Amino acid sequence: LVQLYAPLNWFGTYYRMIQQALIDMENMFDLLKEKREVMDIPGARDLQLNKGMIEFNNVSFHYDPSKAILKDVSFVVPPGQTLAIVGPSGSGKSTIIRLLFRFYDVQSGVIKFDGRDIAQCTQNSVRRAIGVVPQDTVLFNKDIRYNIRYGRVAASDEEVEDAARAADIHDRIVTFTDGYETMVGERGLKLSGGEKQRVAIARTILKSPQFVLLDEATSALDTQTERNIQQSLAKICENRTTIIVAHRLSTIIGADQIMVLKDGEVLERGTHDELLSRNTVYAGMWKQQLRKGNETETETSSGDENAD
Ligand code: ATP
Repeated sequence: LVQLYAPLNWFGTYYRMIQQALIDMENMFDLLKEKREVMDIPGARDLQLNKGMIEFNNVSFHYDPSKAILKDVSFVVPPGQTLAIVGPSGSGKSTIIRLLFRFYDVQSGVIKFDGRDIAQCTQNSVRRAIGVVPQDTVLFNKDIRYNIRYGRVAASDEEVEDAARAADIHDRIVTFTDGYETMVGERGLKLSGGEKQRVAIARTILKSPQFVLLDEATSALDTQTERNIQQSLAKICENRTTIIVAHRLSTIIGADQIMVLKDGEVLERGTHDELLSRNTVYAGMWKQQLRKGNETETETSSGDENAD
């Protein structure tokens, strides 16, 4: 009888392992919100990085041939510098992030990291070089420690906790009933948008990548949370080549370069001050945000008056 059960047990164990692996893979795709669309070319080599320069040379891209999404987009982000991309919804900002992560290959033009065409490199080596802080971080149905360690699976507990401290979430985690062993995700403790973003920041700190891609959340966080997150983000972007898709212009005033995208085309680029002095599209967006900010402040202060 034992002999009969042994293979069944074996099968059961492997079945569970395979099932878990599939769940993890599914989670991973969920996490990255996209499916794999590209394959390594035969003989693809690992990306060899030097200082970390990003180049987009005359890139055109469409998901569907009937609708061009990016039209002849070019830019260079020198090593260690930050490029912020702004523009209306649907202008193609997140598409640029997806292309850098090589979810898709471009139809024309070339994307280079340190002079190497990423389409010629292994996808894994390209992705290893990049840390992404997405708009909305999806958490695994595992404990918080696992979720942070996902940035570098070989990291020690101490390194995980150091990353959590740097991302300003350690103090919050220790208030959870089971601390770092607290289950999070859909079936566990629900974290706020700001907390999830800090988990993503902690992961990126652990990964310590050469490139950082930030897709700023559209939904506004409260001012204090926003300020704390900005500080943690500043830490991971320091000395790393960074691209930020920004929705709030106030967060990118200090960017080395701001690029305005509309309908997949680059309308203008420059520093915040240069673009303001040109008094065209960016300056208009800036004035609009200032007006909106003032309106919100007026609303809040009049609300306070009523409360008194
Ligand atoms: P937002 O500020 O709202 O996030 P965005 O500037 O980042 O917008 P993208 O997400 O890059 O815009 O989308 C650009 C265009 O591509 C949109 O018209 C969008 O509908 C389309 N698009 C995005 N993803 C896909 C996809 N997987 N398949 C087909 N079309 C897509």
